[in-house]
Amino acid sequence: MDFISTRNSRIRVSSSFAITHGISAEGGLFIPVSIPKLSDGDFTKLRSMSYIERAAFVLKTYLTDFSDEEIENCVKGAYTDSFDGDNPAPLAALGTDTRIIELWHGPTCAFKDLALQLLPYLMTTASKHEADGKKIVIPVATSGDTGKAALEGFKDVENTEIIVFYPSEGVSPAQKLQMSTQAGKNVHVFGIVGNFDDAQTGVKKIFTDQSVIEKLAANGYEFSSANSINWGRLVPQIVYYISAYCDMLNEGVDLSNGFNITVPTGNFGNILAAYFAKAMGVPVNKLVCASNKNKILTDFINTGVYNKNREFYTTISPSMDILISSNLERMLYILSGDDEYVCDLQFELLSEGQFEVGDEIRRKLSETFYGGYCDDEKTLETISSLYKDFGYLCDTHTAVAVAVANEYKEVTGDKRPMVIASTASPYKFTKSVLRALGADVPEDEFEAIEKLNALTGVSVPAPIAALSGKKVRFGEIIDKTEIKSAVYSSLNI
Ligand SMILES: *Cc1c(COP(=O)(O)O)cnc(C)c1O
Repeated sequence: MDFISTRNSRIRVSSSFAITHGISAEGGLFIPVSIPKLSDGDFTKLRSMSYIERAAFVLKTYLTDFSDEEIENCVKGAYTDSFDGDNPAPLAALGTDTRIIELWHGPTCAFKDLALQLLPYLMTTASKHEADGKKIVIPVATSGDTGKAALEGFKDVENTEIIVFYPSEGVSPAQKLQMSTQAGKNVHVFGIVGNFDDAQTGVKKIFTDQSVIEKLAANGYEFSSANSINWGRLVPQIVYYISAYCDMLNEGVDLSNGFNITVPTGNFGNILAAYFAKAMGVPVNKLVCASNKNKILTDFINTGVYNKNREFYTTISPSMDILISSNLERMLYILSGDDEYVCDLQFELLSEGQFEVGDEIRRKLSETFYGGYCDDEKTLETISSLYKDFGYLCDTHTAVAVAVANEYKEVTGDKRPMVIASTASPYKFTKSVLRALGADVPEDEFEAIEKLNALTGVSVPAPIAALSGKKVRFGEIIDKTEIKSAVYSSLNI
């Protein structure tokens, strides 16, 4: 399987190259030249497999320059013992026809772990294939969860240095503590003055800055990415949608007319993985793209206009406070098959802050996607009603998805079973969850955690409980113009 760049389809590289480099030199994102199809026989086999075996099976269809043994070692390393329970992506039932796929049983309690526990294995294996002997430097822009998951995945991984930039005022207290107390010899963490888009744009800029690349090379370093612009982040996410389908079939859920999937969306990575699962043969009818008040994707799906010239809101679902959804570029390439068109759109986005797609693409988009959004008030109401009606406690991001999934069912009358991606533990956003339940909210984060636990009896994930009393190692806050110098100082170059 070859990978091509969304901005120049004549560039063809191996999966190892795509994973070690993260992004194509001219700024495009790598995607596979075609999407492998799974046969009925494949699904029969997948149904009787463990999660680790399913992951290996799916990865083998994309990472064809890895040996079977390498892939098996990677998935075993990533998914053995790092998640509580033997299924890293278990399903919870809400009534007969709705399933929540809980993606937060890993070391940092958000869905990013599913990819970022695996990525270091993929990257170190791939870099052996590339054999250029350089150390890999991974600058990460995070809206809160990627940063911690990347730190946890890459800490003390040989020949890597990881440097995380988060919006200093844009993450939850638990997220900030998780990052600022991170252990490891090769980890660096900076808050930046600005929002996630500032962090992401700053990091993307140094990736393609020739002077930075040369200075790194002179010191034996090269860049890669752990953000979802890296194909190695996306491929592990396809697995859990296929796995959820197999688990539902095994449970006896009637999927004869297909099912729908709702994903709380920011950078469009998780929902793009669901799109790949659908294209591989999972009988998904609609992909419901759920946004918070930063509803740029809802508007795009409904009007064909992507316009980031709008107010940016800080919400109680901060991991989705994003106006530039990087992975949409991959979707635009898949729908148009035209690299020049993608270049034009990205150029317009950069220069005008907006672009509009043609009727054909718009039609294809709305065939596959439904876009909806939910503000903070509705998010809180949804947490509360879900808890009352089903005794199910969810975080703010998952609640956005639940609200939009409900809206989708009402608006369309579509009664197919629904799978909702639950992307974080409620204990990552404890204060908002407590508020939703109508409780008084203590100032102290750990008191709040204890209170939510006492109120609901839902157990506190061990990694969150362990944060209490950890020493803060990283408190530095920099301007967004200082990202380059922060990279140099982290590497002592
Ligand atoms: C990252 C994140 C999202 C958004 O996922 P994308 O792949 O960026 O669309 C949603 N919820 C949580 C909790 C996250 O950490």
